[in-house]
Amino acid sequence: MLNITFINKNLAFDSLVKIAHIIRYGILLAFLALFTVFSLRHFVLGGDVAASVDALCPFGGIETLLVFITTGGFVPRILMSSLILSIGVFLTVLFFKRGFCGWICPFGTIQELLGLITKKKKLPAFDRPARYLKYILLIAILLLTTYTGYLVFRDYDPFLTFFHFGKGIFWDFEPDAIITHTIAFAITITVLIASVFISRVWCKYLCPLGAGMAIFSRFGLTSIVRDSKNCNKCKRCDKVCPVGVKVSNVKKIKDTECIDCKICVDECPKKVLKNQFFGYNIPSWLYGLFVVAVLFATIFISIDMGSWQSIPDGDLVTEDGTIDLASIKGWMTLNQLSNGTQIPTTVFYEGLSIPLEVDPETPIKDLSQKYGLSIHAEDIRTFIETLPEEKSITCPWGIEDDDAPGLCGLYVDSDNNNICDFSE
Ligand code: SF4
Ligand code: SF4
Repeated sequence: MLNITFINKNLAFDSLVKIAHIIRYGILLAFLALFTVFSLRHFVLGGDVAASVDALCPFGGIETLLVFITTGGFVPRILMSSLILSIGVFLTVLFFKRGFCGWICPFGTIQELLGLITKKKKLPAFDRPARYLKYILLIAILLLTTYTGYLVFRDYDPFLTFFHFGKGIFWDFEPDAIITHTIAFAITITVLIASVFISRVWCKYLCPLGAGMAIFSRFGLTSIVRDSKNCNKCKRCDKVCPVGVKVSNVKKIKDTECIDCKICVDECPKKVLKNQFFGYNIPSWLYGLFVVAVLFATIFISIDMGSWQSIPDGDLVTEDGTIDLASIKGWMTLNQLSNGTQIPTTVFYEGLSIPLEVDPETPIKDLSQKYGLSIHAEDIRTFIETLPEEKSITCPWGIEDDDAPGLCGLYVDSDNNNICDFSE
């Protein structure tokens, strides 16, 4: 009789643990699917219709923070949406510590899924010192990005590389950037393979966003507490923790490496681990939903306030009248380029030797595939830099064509004889 009761209790416990895992993986997979769909939309529909991965990455908001505070602007490729997402993630940290890592981050999910391939996980000998690498990487990225005004880490970021689905090498081949893309692929593949054998390897050692969250997570309002009197010291919590936190010998988890996945809480057979929020014990699934709710609330409030912007507005001329070259993207058509820069399309056709049969509605990135022209966004940036500034932007005769902005054909005086060479 005793045995049957024991077996029943064990079965009930196992079922509860399974349900807890299903809920967490359900949330993680939903975010992974959502992010994958959003990334694919960008590549299929174009950057003027669907947001880029950069615009949806909260780390971009952190990278641009110093530039935003000092100048009010953004590092190229970063839009208001990145900043809002980073504020949303920051709020989740203040309330729920690293719940974003444990319940939302798509790259964390990919690592966890790969980790399911084998149970033989290793904690490398360099484990603890190597955890500081992510802080060094975070500081280096912030300083260098602010100093150069360029997203220095972007080209090598495995998160971004993964969600570009082989772009630059397997499709939309970019011969000029082949070395950069190859390095980025090598890093990404290494991280993915390592995730099979070392759980959450990127999160533990290198993720700069995780490092930023870890710094502030000590102020988070939730915590996991352990009732040491009723703990039987089975150390199951230590075994199941994906990031190697020693749970079984503390009364309260204060380790900032904890990603708040709550697996230890749900797997504890004696139920002596509790999620505490303002003095209340809350179930793990509710904790997960709270984290999601804070992030979505931030997004929806910003949309409601009209602050959310995840797609560039297409205007490439800055307030001081210069052209924002870094914002020229491969998805822009020749017409969009002309409207955004206020440089007539004819200047691009003539200057870049584009045959007249090329449709001005062709995106820059398709010029090579559709017309065999080796012209990329970088070539256009270089070309614009060679144009005489005043003549390419401001009409010296003060004539503007309001119906077709950027198409005023009167102000390109290519041979400097004060006669307009494109006058109609
Ligand atoms: S540490 Fe970085 S990659 Fe890992 S879950 Fe957190 S944000 Fe995502
Ligand atoms: S200590 Fe618990 S909640 Fe924190 S990462 Fe480890 S298993 Fe997850």
